[in-house]
Amino acid sequence: MLEIEALTVRYPNQPKPALEGVSMRVEGGERVALVGPSGGGKTTLFRAINGSVPSAAGAIVVGETLVAQAHGAALRALRRRIAVIAQMHDLVDRLAVYQNVMAGALGRWSSLHALRFLIHPNRRELGEAHAALERVGIAEKLRSRTSDLSGGQQQRVAIARALVQRPSVLLADEPVASLDPVLSEQILQLLCELARERGLALLCSLHQPQLAMRYFDRVIGLQHGRVVFDRPVAQLEAGTLVFAS
Ligand code: ADP
Repeated sequence: MLEIEALTVRYPNQPKPALEGVSMRVEGGERVALVGPSGGGKTTLFRAINGSVPSAAGAIVVGETLVAQAHGAALRALRRRIAVIAQMHDLVDRLAVYQNVMAGALGRWSSLHALRFLIHPNRRELGEAHAALERVGIAEKLRSRTSDLSGGQQQRVAIARALVQRPSVLLADEPVASLDPVLSEQILQLLCELARERGLALLCSLHQPQLAMRYFDRVIGLQHGRVVFDRPVAQLEAGTLVFAS
């Protein structure tokens, strides 16, 4: 589903590459945690997969699409297949929850359709938003104002929006960094369940190694822009996840 081969990414005017020779493969339904110190290259990797930063060498393939060759309509189609969940969710606070959820469908709607939806959502659209919210456990918030929700509920809205997008790859960039420990576990459990249930390739960066061990199938360590290990959880010991500086 997602294959990365010897990827190198350089930012302009930086002496060292942000990623160097990074290779990995994530199958549909597989849950992979990305761990490592700050500055290790996790966010850059997500940007490269999404086609937002160019690669200096190597290749990223999402499904059948070579990311470097996707431009214009092909790049938009690629981005529809990749849902992103950010650390501080990027919802529009003043909109109703269902409006934020259905933003996940914008990639498959015309501008006219999107405008009509904002003014007068139909029953089918509200039904789709309701179903996604039901799956993440907050169906009763369908018509609430998004700013009235707690941080954990807002992260659930972001996940519901990702479901509506019907992606094949789910990138979660520190999705629990601003949540308390109990909520963090609930959100990770939900993400991992959904990846398995819907056959999504899940790549999730995390700061807490113990959570990576508890919920994911595989853990990849990224440090100084390089993969320092890539192992199934069963073959990892907690000590492996401590990084030397
Ligand atoms: P992480 O997400 O693991 O903290 P990043 O991908 O943000 O790591 O950073 C990897 C490296 O790339 C770091 O050395 C960082 O300083 C550098 N970097 C990240 N973003 C930029 C940018 N926009 N311009 C220049 N350098 C950047």
